[in-house]
Amino acid sequence: MKRANIVVNGIVQGVGFRPFIHKLISEYELKGWVKNTSSGVVIEVEGELDKIHCFVEDIKIKKPKLSVIESINLTVYDELLGYNEFRIIESTNDTTKFTLISPDVAICDDCLRELNDKNDKRYKFPFINCTNCGPRFTIIKDVPYDREKTTMNKFKMCDSCLSEYKDIEDRRYHAQPNCCFDCGPNIYYLNSDNIIIKENVIESVKNDLKEGKIIAIKGIGGFHLACNAKNKIAVEKLRQRKNREEKPFALMCRDIKTVRQFCIVSKEEEEHLTSFRRPIVLLRKKSEIFDYISIDNNYLGIMLPYAPLHFLLFDDELDVLVMTSANMKDKPIIKDNDEATIELKEVADGFLLHNRDIYVRCDDSLIFVYKGNEYFIRRSRGYTPFPIKVEFEAEDILACGAEQKASFCLLKKNYAFLSQHIGDLKNIETYNNYISQIEHFKKLFDINPKKIVCDYHPDYMSTEYAIDIGEKHNKEVYMVQHHHAHMASCMADNNLNGNVIAITWDGTGLGLDNTLWGGEILYGNYREFERRATIRKIRLVGGDLAIKEIDRIAYDLLYQTFGNVDKNILDMKNSQIINKMIENNVNTYLTSSIGRLFDGVSSLLGLRHYASYEGQGAILLEKTAELNENGVYTYNLEQSDLLEFDWRPMIREIVLDIGRGVSINIISAKFMNTLVDFAVKSVKQIESETNCRDIVISGGVFQNMYLLDRIYTRLQSDGFNVYIHKRVSTNDEGISLGQLAVVANGGGMRCV
Ligand SMILES: [Zn+2]
Ligand SMILES: [Zn+2]
Ligand SMILES: [Zn+2]
Repeated sequence: MKRANIVVNGIVQGVGFRPFIHKLISEYELKGWVKNTSSGVVIEVEGELDKIHCFVEDIKIKKPKLSVIESINLTVYDELLGYNEFRIIESTNDTTKFTLISPDVAICDDCLRELNDKNDKRYKFPFINCTNCGPRFTIIKDVPYDREKTTMNKFKMCDSCLSEYKDIEDRRYHAQPNCCFDCGPNIYYLNSDNIIIKENVIESVKNDLKEGKIIAIKGIGGFHLACNAKNKIAVEKLRQRKNREEKPFALMCRDIKTVRQFCIVSKEEEEHLTSFRRPIVLLRKKSEIFDYISIDNNYLGIMLPYAPLHFLLFDDELDVLVMTSANMKDKPIIKDNDEATIELKEVADGFLLHNRDIYVRCDDSLIFVYKGNEYFIRRSRGYTPFPIKVEFEAEDILACGAEQKASFCLLKKNYAFLSQHIGDLKNIETYNNYISQIEHFKKLFDINPKKIVCDYHPDYMSTEYAIDIGEKHNKEVYMVQHHHAHMASCMADNNLNGNVIAITWDGTGLGLDNTLWGGEILYGNYREFERRATIRKIRLVGGDLAIKEIDRIAYDLLYQTFGNVDKNILDMKNSQIINKMIENNVNTYLTSSIGRLFDGVSSLLGLRHYASYEGQGAILLEKTAELNENGVYTYNLEQSDLLEFDWRPMIREIVLDIGRGVSINIISAKFMNTLVDFAVKSVKQIESETNCRDIVISGGVFQNMYLLDRIYTRLQSDGFNVYIHKRVSTNDEGISLGQLAVVANGGGMRCV
């Protein structure tokens, strides 16, 4: 017999760890106690030593799914204290108040079984949950996490629920949102005749969906707009009403079998689709049946049901629903009943509502699965607010992110708390939500920022906010150049330190020379960087207008290449004005953005002259590209301290190819192959000067999987260590983590 003291570190509090230990211990006949302390969960047991070792191994294997174990320290003593039972000791009041909060968790298998069990008291109960599943982040108002501090506080647990809650052997032990038909929230349906239906709610909703109606459905982190995805007319109607002509919609499928009918699903993709986080996974289309759902690309964004309510909506005749976030252009996702019925009056035919309030908005997450990992386009529900663990520590910092894909990030010790998807800060409601979420996170995680970080762009709303609160509250404010932040974000994402070569390609970010960058390859570290490669500058004729009217960019590509623009190659109504603006340098801005180069080329190929959403040009090129084409266009890589990709020879050859009738599929592929070649050549040259072999890849352009995969593969086969994002988004949503990493490591430009 020995006595052992076991300290478990990591994310082990507020994730059901103590009940888990209590349950596990019963298999081992060990006696002692478990308690939460500021240094982790501490367990003390007495028993046979080999049993104790097995127990420790089992902790690692069977740990609660939300927990992350960073270390387990075991100290063994000969002296016994003679414990005769195993107890959970109430934690002493901890002044450090550092509780982690769970993300919202999709319904677990046990609850799903009960949901479908006619004899269960929660048969078809839309709010069924337990310790292992249910809403968390979106219903929590404050910490510590108990029912009083959630939006479940207005429901009083009935005796039956309460006895489950109090029973450590029960799956609902300390499940704060625990409830049942007798004591929990209820659903109701406001139909198109403005009648509130309280009986057979689900049947009424399903009938309306089957009739092609559009229904606003209150979910976990906000409302969805739903319709029968197989009803093309209903989908078109939704597009019209939502004013979303071409942007893809997300789909929710009844089950994985249904998904396989029209998408290719790898084993890893299936794992992510069915994980408790339940993100939307971008999957390759197998058939054309849903081309009208996602017009511009080869992917469909698919998720499986995650709230119990979702499961009730499906049957044999209704197995695929459009489930798109219910928000009007650039506004935050709608979360309250009143807000929904007012804002969506013209959009939804009916409203499936309930009286459990959503406290925090949280959109669905959106990922690709690449190399087996999540590759984030949007990191939100199911992930937020779990922190990103980083390998540096500093005093508390607030990083304010970018603007269009805004996020913020708060550092406490070595945990970076990244916000959920926020949206475009130029919208006032979105901006207000951003500010209130910053305050909410500060309160939840007891973070009091000493330093504030923002982008180098003075006009970003996030920059104005940072400077404003810095001045008001006497905090140091630092600016971090946009692409340096992308680089640092990918470094922190991969726990890198030291020097890297960073391919940071995106739509736009203000450069240190006050022109717009976006085709940059940097060399440096958290503290400092050098700009080592870029692309020949492109004119934005008419400023921001050129981001929408992308034929303006095509015009400039031709103008710079040939000195004039042949009407047979690009016929624009306003070409004379454009020409004048270029020649007189009126209202034109220079950018080295790869995103814009994509736009220009897609217009040149006639794929698109007007982008109805940002990145559309690039998405179309990716869709069009012939996967087996390996050809590369000619380009110049001008040698100096700053390598410059001169795209004019490439544009000349593209025009020749068009003239010769070469297929657009081939041209698209060759265009992207040329960018790959440019990236690889530049990296090799920088390596020859720096001996640096660690490469990070970041920026919105790398939502293009064709480009990402080819650059990754080529660099890796050349022996480089290539790092891509795996915990935060590659687009501007990931910027805040990078800003934070720069300043935590002593970099950034002090501005207040
Ligand atoms: Zn459950
Ligand atoms: Zn109850
Ligand atoms: Zn960016």
